[in-house]
Amino acid sequence: MSATDIANRLVVVEGDITKQAVDAIVNAANESLLGGGGVDGAIHRAAGPELLEECRKLGGCPTGQAKITRGYRLPAKWVIHTVGPVWRGGTRGEDDLLASCYRSCFALAEQHGIRTIAFPSISTGAYGFPMERAARIAVREAKAFLERNKTVEKVLLVCFGQKAFEIHQQALKEILAGG
Ligand code: ADP
Repeated sequence: MSATDIANRLVVVEGDITKQAVDAIVNAANESLLGGGGVDGAIHRAAGPELLEECRKLGGCPTGQAKITRGYRLPAKWVIHTVGPVWRGGTRGEDDLLASCYRSCFALAEQHGIRTIAFPSISTGAYGFPMERAARIAVREAKAFLERNKTVEKVLLVCFGQKAFEIHQQALKEILAGG
């Protein structure tokens, strides 16, 4: 798998994840899966009340794992809900748990034949994970997945604001260059 191929399939964009016309968007949820603030609130507002109804049946989700629902009124057909770690200084397994979120989402994407998927910057809002560090984990996991998977055409890392966009572009550039 060539570096150009990965660069074509792994893309950093600035925008609102609820507007992305992809097969699946990822929600940075909390363990209850019953909605919250930040991107979670935005996704539930855009999807409509049926999303919360389906989430109620899931019985929550442990940190580092993921569960899938329909997208209802969203342009996306699916929502993959994952629970990122709360940042506690970096010595409580936060890096591994965050990597596990990305892997769990990709596993569900494969199981459901999803070809295009958009991620927000999991854990970097209310959960306080430093964005540079989280961005490197996101890019590393996406790259590793795309290197072995042939069916996913596009992975979008959707950045909320210019600063987030720059941080993710930098991480992408460094990691694709071999860092
Ligand atoms: P967490 O609790 O996992 O930290 P947050 O929702 O608080 O989740 O934040 C995760 C990231 O999502 C933050 O970087 C935040 O700026 C970003 N974000 C918030 N709203 C949106 C949105 N509509 N689209 C994309 N990203 C968003």
